[in-house]
Amino acid sequence: MHSLDDTIAAVSSAAGGATRGIVRISGPAAIGCLQACFLPTSSAAISELKSAQCIPGELLLSLAGDPRPRRLPCDLFLWPGNRSYTRQPVAELHTIGSPPLVEAALRAVCSAGARPAEPGEFTLRAFLAGRIDLLQAEAVLGVIDAGDRRKLDVALAQLAGGLTRPLGVLRDHLLDLLADLEAGLDFAEEDLQFVSSADLDRRLGEAIGSIAAVVAQMQSRSRTDGEPRIALVGWPNVGKSSLFNALVGQSAAIVSPQPGTTRDYLSALLDFGGVGCQLIDTAGVELNAKEGSLSDAAQQMMSAQETNADLRLICVDSTRPLNAWERDEITRPGIKLIVTTKCDDATISDNARLSDLTPSVETSSRTGRGLDQLRSAIAAALSSDRETNPEGTVAETAARCRDSLRLSADCLARARRIAATGRGNEELVAADIRSALTELGKVVGVIYTDDVLDRVFARFCIGK
Ligand code: GDP
Repeated sequence: MHSLDDTIAAVSSAAGGATRGIVRISGPAAIGCLQACFLPTSSAAISELKSAQCIPGELLLSLAGDPRPRRLPCDLFLWPGNRSYTRQPVAELHTIGSPPLVEAALRAVCSAGARPAEPGEFTLRAFLAGRIDLLQAEAVLGVIDAGDRRKLDVALAQLAGGLTRPLGVLRDHLLDLLADLEAGLDFAEEDLQFVSSADLDRRLGEAIGSIAAVVAQMQSRSRTDGEPRIALVGWPNVGKSSLFNALVGQSAAIVSPQPGTTRDYLSALLDFGGVGCQLIDTAGVELNAKEGSLSDAAQQMMSAQETNADLRLICVDSTRPLNAWERDEITRPGIKLIVTTKCDDATISDNARLSDLTPSVETSSRTGRGLDQLRSAIAAALSSDRETNPEGTVAETAARCRDSLRLSADCLARARRIAATGRGNEELVAADIRSALTELGKVVGVIYTDDVLDRVFARFCIGK
């Protein structure tokens, strides 16, 4: 489907008149196409050139409806070998930027053997040739589309490898871990271990942390589009709505039910440490009849809010132990604060299992305990995220990769839980690590389908 054997050509300068118009060509027959329509000023034979060069000369054109051949001044920029953007012979004809002239130049190149390029096809070739990965391809589009300085900086950082590097390191670590585990499986009879239980737990924990950092970096992009979104997340009855009301008090600019979801949710504009934020209560979440699971609709609604949140406030009830859903939620990557609710009843013991896991902010909506600390913690979490993740991510990348990153973190969390049950389950742990690697492979584009490529590159304009 994505053949690299034919030679493609397109106008790659902006539409409309300009001082300079550019026709770009890539493919094995690029030089042959040029020989049919470009005359170098010097006697240099362009087929003999071995390195990248700029060659002044003339374009030989005929304009539509006019049989007389025209000669136009033109500079040829030529990358004759595989050290080009697409790792194929690439040429650019730079001439006068008059639309009919540039179109005539494209026609001349195409009648000499090239075919018109599809949208994004030059960048697609760069990706297929391994010059850039899928994250960088999306960054190219981000650079072209950047509407302001902040978006340009984000796209340039991504193009320079801001996401590629940490994901590459993470994949290498996981491949090493998988190799160690599989070596142990090969010697299972001899009871040889290539990775200790403690080491396995540590390495899986680090990998989950690395994914959390990438997810956090992706989430930070939404701040460029409006106020940070803070979602109250939690099991029914833990006290989310009470906390929402206590935080909102009289100071909310807006409190409104939002239609359009299975269950309504509330949002309010609040100020945390000088930063205007949107606080969202995922109210109305229902318990499924089956104890211990949320209904599909409730889960969908909650995860829609969570997915768009810059910060999750995971509310847990101090009057009872954590349930399995809460434990998973707490270990899930992303920027979050754990908020213990109902800390006003002296007869109820602390939620000891939570304090083992992670620090939390202890609150009571009834007495107001901990609300100021919670406001400060929210402000600190948002500002530390801004400092540690200044780069953000091109919006299209965040949308494409969110699910894969989440799935890969889930696989690793499951691998870690299985590993914690003791020796003998290494096959299952290895299978989950393999699944996590598959998902990470989709993010960088080591694993892709034609559908994914079509979706990514169709957003480009022709000539890029
Ligand atoms: P949600 O379903 O998570 O939104 O929970 P709600 O805010 O509706 O509260 C569930 C129950 O917990 C209600 O009966 C509240 O009165 C009670 N509750 C909420 N906050 C507190 C608190 O700070 N202290 C105590 N003791 N009870 C609370």
